[in-house]
Amino acid sequence: MKYLILIILLTLNLNAKAESVPEIADPKLNDVALAIYVEGEIVILYNPNFCNMLGPLVCKFFLAHEYGHINLGHVLTGTYSAQTDLEADCWAVKNAPLLHVQAAHQHFLKDGFMGNWPHGTGVKRAERMSYCSAF
Ligand SMILES: [Zn+2]
Repeated sequence: MKYLILIILLTLNLNAKAESVPEIADPKLNDVALAIYVEGEIVILYNPNFCNMLGPLVCKFFLAHEYGHINLGHVLTGTYSAQTDLEADCWAVKNAPLLHVQAAHQHFLKDGFMGNWPHGTGVKRAERMSYCSAF
């Protein structure tokens, strides 16, 4: 019986993850996008001004990166390190539409704006993205 309850809870949890996460525009955000808890619910905040500057395809990759953090459980621990950011980029490379991935890769290769990204240059980030997929 305990296992049945556990399975039901796990299923509910998976369903919760599959639901869409609210994406909230915040022009004051000091980053392109960020996945955080707001009042007990995971939301993705994004800066619409940065997104306008980056263009829709690159912006969507940044959102996919945040979905990576959510799906990999990083938001639960609240830890965003070079390692978790690399994992979130890899998740995005594998799950985002190829057009978004290619646009972001080109953007980073040109050392384009990356928001609050303390883990090296855009060229380095583009190189690391290439390790995740052979596109
Ligand atoms: Zn990140």
